[in-house]
Amino acid sequence: MKRRNFIKKASVTGLGIVAASSTLLSCDETKSAEKTAVATTLKPVRPLVIATWKTDLAVETAAAYLAKGASALDAVEQGCRIEEANEKGQSVGKGGLPDRDGNVTLDACIMDSKGNYGAVLGVKNIKHVISVARKVMEDTPHVMLVAEGAEQFAVSKGFKRENLLTEASKKAWEKWKVKSEYKPIINIENHDTIGMLAVDKNGNISGACTTSGLAYKLPGRVGDSPIIGGGLFVDNEVGGASATGLGEEVLKTVGSFLIVELMRQGKSPQEACEIAIGRIVNKPGKDFKNFQVGYIAVNKQGETGAYSIHQWFSYNIFKNGENKNLQSDYFNKA
Ligand code: ASP
Repeated sequence: MKRRNFIKKASVTGLGIVAASSTLLSCDETKSAEKTAVATTLKPVRPLVIATWKTDLAVETAAAYLAKGASALDAVEQGCRIEEANEKGQSVGKGGLPDRDGNVTLDACIMDSKGNYGAVLGVKNIKHVISVARKVMEDTPHVMLVAEGAEQFAVSKGFKRENLLTEASKKAWEKWKVKSEYKPIINIENHDTIGMLAVDKNGNISGACTTSGLAYKLPGRVGDSPIIGGGLFVDNEVGGASATGLGEEVLKTVGSFLIVELMRQGKSPQEACEIAIGRIVNKPGKDFKNFQVGYIAVNKQGETGAYSIHQWFSYNIFKNGENKNLQSDYFNKA
């Protein structure tokens, strides 16, 4: 489909659907006087899945799990595994573009509706890092494992080692090596890191995020994707958010946590995503021309939001039985 037609078809700019009846409720947080403001609609939208980029099959898979009564946690894990196994996607799982030395290293995290979190960082040779992150969350007293330790842990849990560098990604890397120019180019149009949020039939929210990170990154570099509050954050009382794009910028503003906290204060998911992008682009002297950041968010009522710095950030959303890929609204319209 030509870009223009595609845009016309998906002319909904961000799904920041503000509830018709937007009463503010508040409830006490334990040991805190802080109030949680939750916008209500008459009927919350459930089940619901939202994910970064054009991730039709991953979202369809997550939705199919939810339809069978699975938890939001199972749904996001299974959805993300689809992209990790997709060798054509060069930014997630097998087939991901390598670092400067030619090694594919993966980052992933997962967060459940009870506020539990697990992550793995800089993992080689294991494709389904999202499932390894879940094992870290459920089977260890820790929240993060890195590099060799994470790989050994995965193997101890029955994950198979395999070569993640496909011929196509190897060729792209060899071509890059000729000039070895390091520019953190963010893929602004196509599939990239997958961040996924789901609300199950009981209204519980979970999220997952998995990536190979920036292409040709310095060995050891980790972005936002596996970092709690950066690439992903979920608070079951409020909602969830996930990020894609230049991880360094997301981390400096703790983007996903910020969005959830803004929703807690009563902002719609759309407003919260827009404010979070504003935190990046409105820094004095910030030159945002050459990097992209995109956010998605959902609240407890199933209202959603998406916003990016530049055009061409898309996201998939499954709700009311339909799975659509939509273009996000964006900041840089100059
Ligand atoms: N956020 C990812 C990272 O910085 C990359 C991306 O989403 O393209 O590692």
